[in-house]
This record gives sequence, C-alpha cells and structure tokens, in this order.
Amino acid sequence: MPENTNDPAKKSWLEVAQDSDFPIQNIPFGVFLTRDDIITIGTRIGDYAIDLGALHQLGYFEGIPLTDDIFLQDTLNDFISDGKKTWRAVRNRISELFDIENPSLQQNEDHKKVVLFAMDEIEMKLPVQIGDYTDFYSSKEHATNVGTMFRDPENALMPNWLHIPVGYHGRSSTIVPSGIPVRRPVGQTFPKGAEHPVFGPSRLVDFELEMAFITTDANALGEAIPIAEAEDYIFGMVLFNDWSARDIQKWEYVPLGPFLAKNFASSISPWIVTMDALEPFRVESPKQDPEPFPYLRHQGANSYDIHLEVAIAPEGEEATTVTRSNFKYMYWTMVQQLAHHTVNGCTINSGDMMGSGTISGPTPDSYGSMLELSWQGTKPVPLKNNIERKFIADNDTVILKGFCEKSGSRIGFGEVSTKLLPAREID
Ligand code: CA
Repeated sequence: MPENTNDPAKKSWLEVAQDSDFPIQNIPFGVFLTRDDIITIGTRIGDYAIDLGALHQLGYFEGIPLTDDIFLQDTLNDFISDGKKTWRAVRNRISELFDIENPSLQQNEDHKKVVLFAMDEIEMKLPVQIGDYTDFYSSKEHATNVGTMFRDPENALMPNWLHIPVGYHGRSSTIVPSGIPVRRPVGQTFPKGAEHPVFGPSRLVDFELEMAFITTDANALGEAIPIAEAEDYIFGMVLFNDWSARDIQKWEYVPLGPFLAKNFASSISPWIVTMDALEPFRVESPKQDPEPFPYLRHQGANSYDIHLEVAIAPEGEEATTVTRSNFKYMYWTMVQQLAHHTVNGCTINSGDMMGSGTISGPTPDSYGSMLELSWQGTKPVPLKNNIERKFIADNDTVILKGFCEKSGSRIGFGEVSTKLLPAREID
C-alpha cells in the first residue's frame, strides 16, 4: 500500500496552529486515559486527541483487516505486531477522514463528541509495554567527549568504536512517560580525594539527550535481520531522556558497564511518530571511515534531520534552553543498530525499544548532556536570572523537544518533561 499522508498541502478540518508538532501529516500513535477513565489507543491532530477505539467502533476503519478490540487496549504492542501494511492503512484512513475536503466525520456532531478530546482532558500513558530495552552509544562526538574527559584525549575513542555500534542491555521496568517525576537516586560513589566509597544521594544527576525507536516482531531465534530489511521492523520514534547518575556510574561501571547509574529512570515522549511521517526528512548519515563490515553497510539516506533541544526550568523559574543538537549527527544509524543487534541471532519483539545514545553535535552548544556542557562540572552552564547549573538540581524540570522542519512543513514529537525530586530519606 502506498503511503500518501505526507503531502504538505493537505489540511485538516481540525484547527492546527502554524507551529504545531502535530499537523495532519504527522498522525502519531499513543495511549491515553479519557475524561471517563477509559484507556484507549489514539492519535493527535493539533491539540485534539482522537480516540481510535471509538472511531473503529463507529465503522470508520471498514475495509482494513483489524480485530474489533485492536485499539481498545492499554498498549500498542498488538497493533505494532500487525506490521507496516496495517500501520499504513490506518494512517492513510485517518489522513482521509480528517482532510478538510472530507465531510463524513467533519459533519457528524454526534460522532465527533465521542471521538475527539482536548489534550487537557486526557492523560497520556506509556504507549507500549516495553519488553526489552537496549541503549546504544552511537554519537561519535559524545563518545569522543566522554573518552577525552575520562581517559585520554589522544585515544578518546575505544578501538572498537568505529567498527561496532556499541550498546548495552538496559531495564525496561523504569521507563516512564513525560510528566512522571523522577527521584534522585541514592547509591555508592567514590568522590575525588576520598579514601573509601561513600553511600548517599547521587550528587551528579544528568540528562542524556537521546531518541529511541520502537520495533515490531522481527526475527526468530538464531536469525539475523539483514540491514536492507531492517527499516521494515521499525514502527516509529520517541524523544528519550536517559537519566544518569554520573558519580554512581563512574564507580560501578568497571568491568561490566552501566548498571544502577542508568536504571533508576528513563523518560520518553508519549506519542510515537512513525517512520512514514518522518520520510520527507530523511538525510544521509555521516560518512563512515573505516568502511564497516558488509552486514553493516547501507545505501542511500538512512538518517533523519530532527532538531533536538533541551531546556532546564528550576522550580518557579522560566525554562532556559541549554543545548541544541540534531539526530542526523548520529554516526551509527538505526538500521545499522538493528542489523548489528540481531547478527548473532538475538530475537527482537514488538514493543522493544532501542535508545540512540546521547546525541552530541560538533560544537559545545550542541552537546547532549550536562557532563559535556559543563565539561565534568568545570564550566557552569548559565540559566536565566543569574542561575547556573553544573548538573541537575532537586526540583528542576528537564524538557526535551524534537521536531523536523522543511520548506514550511513541520512534524514534531512534542516534549518529554520531567521533574527531578529530591532523594528519599536514608535511615
Ligand atoms: Ca544512554
């Protein structure tokens, strides 16, 4: 089925602000709780949430093979399992229904009452039950900055980095949607100059500016996903703040890698933007030298031009944007990550999530973490009203935003906004 939702000239009969992340060309998928406390799968146009369960019951998806309850669920996993053909058919139908030229739903006041919600009447939930979560480390600028700080500026990149999309397995149990506050973790650290490790609240809590992609069922145990097919198994993307406790990380990470410094919380934006919606914003990824192994080689444009930014709002204060980066800086692409992840026969399922790793750009104002922006706490980052930060303080809210823009058309992810609460009391 062809994809025909991207026409920039297309307009919806629902009001959409000029700078909205959610024009009719976007049609993301999410899960929300309605004003009547019913959980449903939905999409969004402008500032309206659209109940797909209700639309389906009213017969608007006739002709598309869908089970009766496909949208009356509290996760997108089953819908994602139906595959790309179904995602496309549903998005195409939504695009037709909400087209300004189409009177069917537009002129049916009774149906509109059941289907449409204002964004402030609903509560966004986690869109998928995340089975497995993997985090990569695919920004060359980020890996170089971290290697320069912690090891040796002359050999900042580890010898494997230019050959392997490096990653580790994370925890899915602590991934939360935007709006859910996160508590400063406690744990073991080994402060500079100390003689023994200490136990207490982390003093160096940081954000990581990342994006993540959500997969569909892809392969049987023992099979690999060829890189040329990998794209078909990616449902869509979200913004991803991979909270990190740098002091805990530094003490614990040898030799098995990140553990409690990373798994206390990770926050995602609640609307999954599909790869079909991002198609017009495809760009080439950075040239790779040395050329990777054949199973990691790809043709054409395999990245996306997605502007990313992070703002910090201290309690009661205005937010200050502290960095602006772009997804296109990523050295290893999503299809390379997926091909590499499965080359040993590792199984990928519907609802798995893969983090990009911190996305730092080439200049100091495009770094993707406070660790880099404050250069390990040596350069305070100025905020409005003479406030400054080296890392994230208690009751700060961290807001990640992301959007694509090209010749007047814009598709965005909204935001992931999370408040950092003080550490719990230790006896
Ligand atoms: Ca990370």
